[in-house]
Amino acid sequence: MLDHFRRLARIDRPRILRLGLKFYLALGVHPAGIPKHSVTYLLDKLPAALGKYNAAAVGEIGLQHGGQVEENVLSAQLAIAADLDLSAIVHTPQLNKKEAVETTLEILADSSLAAERVLLDHLNSEVIDLVLDSGYMMGLTIHPAKLSPAEAVELISKYGSQNFVLSTDLGVNPSYLFGLPATISAMQDAKFTDSDIRKVVHDNISNLMGQLP
Ligand SMILES: [Zn+2]
Repeated sequence: MLDHFRRLARIDRPRILRLGLKFYLALGVHPAGIPKHSVTYLLDKLPAALGKYNAAAVGEIGLQHGGQVEENVLSAQLAIAADLDLSAIVHTPQLNKKEAVETTLEILADSSLAAERVLLDHLNSEVIDLVLDSGYMMGLTIHPAKLSPAEAVELISKYGSQNFVLSTDLGVNPSYLFGLPATISAMQDAKFTDSDIRKVVHDNISNLMGQLP
């Protein structure tokens, strides 16, 4: 995993900057990738890696199947984010989402990380009520297995653009490459202002991530 961190910082960052895009680096131990034997070693190395590679956030971290190990690894990484004054990108799983969100909210409440430093991602209509008053940024992931543009627009119409961030989870699994442009277009059709659209695709996440290093 340390090699993966190096690859993101040393190969992917320059590659993305060359395309003229902004790049914020987040490093962390994802709950679906917790190594069986060396997680303590990895958590010991994480603060130095975050500093060395100028990371803006710890993430994705969170719960996948749940259980004590995942909860401990999440708590430890929230403590690292708080210590280093970084944000945290917190994953929520597809299965048992409600239960996982409830446990995650308890762990977040016990951490010393400020609410405005947290993005709770992959939310949907099933769990949104649990998170609305938390002060956390709320991630809506436009993805074939998560949310459609129409579902995201419905949630933003109902609750306002103030704390939402649109994400895509683009990766090796089937993804929706044009998820963000399609959602912007759906928001325009629904008569959102440019300022509201900008909040959910740019301003809210920029504020969370802070200044680029
Ligand atoms: Zn995730």
